Amino acid sequence: MNVMDNKVTLGRAGIKVTELCFGTLTMSALQADLSPESMEPVFKRALELGINFYDTAHRYVTYRHLRVGLGQKINDVVIASKTGTKTLEQAREEVEQCFRELGRDMIDIYLLHQVDDEADLEQRRPVLDYLLKLQSQGKIRSVGLSSHRISGNEVAIRHADEMDILFPVINQQGLGIIDGTVEQAMESLKRAKSAGLGIYAMKPLGGGHLRKNSVEAINFLRKSPLVDAIAIGIKSVDEVEVNVAIFSDGKFPLDQKKFESLATTDRRTLVNFLCKRCGECIKYCDQGALFLGEKKAEVDLEKCILCGYCAAHCPQFAIRVI
Ligand code: SF4
Ligand code: SF4
Repeated sequence: MNVMDNKVTLGRAGIKVTELCFGTLTMSALQADLSPESMEPVFKRALELGINFYDTAHRYVTYRHLRVGLGQKINDVVIASKTGTKTLEQAREEVEQCFRELGRDMIDIYLLHQVDDEADLEQRRPVLDYLLKLQSQGKIRSVGLSSHRISGNEVAIRHADEMDILFPVINQQGLGIIDGTVEQAMESLKRAKSAGLGIYAMKPLGGGHLRKNSVEAINFLRKSPLVDAIAIGIKSVDEVEVNVAIFSDGKFPLDQKKFESLATTDRRTLVNFLCKRCGECIKYCDQGALFLGEKKAEVDLEKCILCGYCAAHCPQFAIRVI
């Protein structure tokens, strides 16, 4: 039963996507660390209900999850990936790995991961030029960037002649936007839209802080003409069904019991006893949510948006997002 049959156009390349984008961060080793095989039923249900837009990144290490889960349908869906590297050599390796592991010879969307500002883009210029070259060869359909900052959104606006897609942090309360309010972020998205960029939203539930009011938080973005699609981390069949129900405008019933259960599941970032207080993780938390306590690193749960990026840089594997 395909209930997600309405597609929106994302960016000037005319990519048609479902408003609900299936995010793969939460199943990744940075968070729940679920195996590709265990995710097969989840992707199967997502395909059955019609989700055609899937978000990943080199950093998430979920290409195999997509390959196994989407099976024969992998060429029929839209896949967005990201590279956070600053070197051309590493970018080449990452993109080749993406093609190889997904088993595709074209990737729909490739983004520079977490761009902060113009100086950051300048450092990544060789990577951007490489992605644009692949785009001119038909191997990538759209190039763009993701950002946790309004200053990153501004970079996409200034370079809208080169970029087509913006993937910004945006949610009802502005959680996770490092350098401004939700109103200021919306103002930048207005200019991004006028510049012709396709926009899909990251952290619509503020990394879980808004999950108790998820319908309201999602509808806040759905009602905005500035946001084309919304990425939500999914790692279970129940999460597929609840999110499809929210996006389907009544075509698929919302199971209240499943909804309540997901809304009240407590999620948090934990640092365990393996921590050696080296402080490395603190450098990678752009939310300022980590600090060194007396015995180990500690997490400010009010600030943490559960991205899991700190976990990838802990040499002791002491951090888990659960
Ligand atoms: S990187 Fe790991 S070991 Fe180092 S302070 Fe952070 S949690 Fe502790
Ligand atoms: S502590 Fe920082 S880097 Fe780690 S999950 Fe939370 S927001 Fe992300």
